[in-house]
Amino acid sequence: MPRPITATLHLAAFDNNLQVIRRQAPGAKVWSVVKANAYGHGLKHVWRSLANTDGFALLDLAEAVLLRESGWQGPILLLEGFFQPEDLALVDRYQLTTAVHSDWQLAAIADARLTAPLNIYLKLNSGMNRLGFAPDRIRSVWQQAQGIANIGAMTLMSHFATADEARGVTQQMATIDRAAADLPLPRCLANSAATLWHPDTHGSWVRPGIILYGASPSGNSADIAATGLQATMSLRSEIIAVQTLKSGDCVGYGWRYTASAVQRIGIVACGYADGYPRHAQSGTPIWVDGVLTRTVGTVSMDMLAVDLTPCPQAAIGAEVELWGRHLPVDDVAAAAGTLGYELLTALTPRVPVEAGA
Ligand SMILES: *Cc1c(COP(=O)(O)O)cnc(C)c1O
Repeated sequence: MPRPITATLHLAAFDNNLQVIRRQAPGAKVWSVVKANAYGHGLKHVWRSLANTDGFALLDLAEAVLLRESGWQGPILLLEGFFQPEDLALVDRYQLTTAVHSDWQLAAIADARLTAPLNIYLKLNSGMNRLGFAPDRIRSVWQQAQGIANIGAMTLMSHFATADEARGVTQQMATIDRAAADLPLPRCLANSAATLWHPDTHGSWVRPGIILYGASPSGNSADIAATGLQATMSLRSEIIAVQTLKSGDCVGYGWRYTASAVQRIGIVACGYADGYPRHAQSGTPIWVDGVLTRTVGTVSMDMLAVDLTPCPQAAIGAEVELWGRHLPVDDVAAAAGTLGYELLTALTPRVPVEAGA
């Protein structure tokens, strides 16, 4: 018998979530962001469930090649562009659209021998200060790009730092408008938070990631509760042992939890080597045998402990959901001081992934 842990993918939820996104941004085309192996779900498992998208956006040339070789014929966008001039051979061969954020990339495109002009996303740094051309340069860069025969269609791209917060997008939108108001380029600006909460950013294409997977860009599950977004992954395991503690008995490494009365606890086959956060405190929500309860003590490499007081019927073999349909990944992440993004992408290879209902 294998360990009872599995990540079950809810494939129908992807199309549902894509429809939610289309209702939020009715005038825009959608790049479904599937970087980081589709946010930890496995690109090869999920892309067909997103086949109603207008394109896929990712970072890794290898993931782009996998998508093409698996049969996706639509647009693919490299969000960080290519990393060295030699990559352009694959970009050309697989007809990828690439972000261009630095002068060396323009020069490399100009010098490359291509079979067809390359569609590019000109990246404007509007305040995130990771990638992109400075606002006062974007116009001259665009003019330069227009003179490069190897360049086909151009789109203006930028990325928001605070679209999920009270500060919103006002400052960066003002920068974008000042820098590019008169550039006749389609725009692609919006991540998940801007897609949901800032319709003025939508432009020609939106680039949602985390909401495709049913998690909240803000980290707060309540913020997306009314949207109709559904969880795309349930991480499940089972109770593999039960202990009955006396008052004063402690649990796990460091004895970080002490029972204050007689208490049944369950041991779950899931630990930080599966991707469950070791920083999840005692009290992190967890779903056991149909009931929401909480973890107790420190998460071990391969196991964690749960309070069985709210589910006295739960015995060895009882079903456990670490996160998923019954328990938003955001709620578990919040208890560990992180975001659903990190938990989903941190799932480790030893957890078998299977397609479920
Ligand atoms: C990851 C990423 C996105 C998607 O972000 P979400 O917050 O998951 O929607 C969009 N654009 C770029 C450039 C990204 O790197």
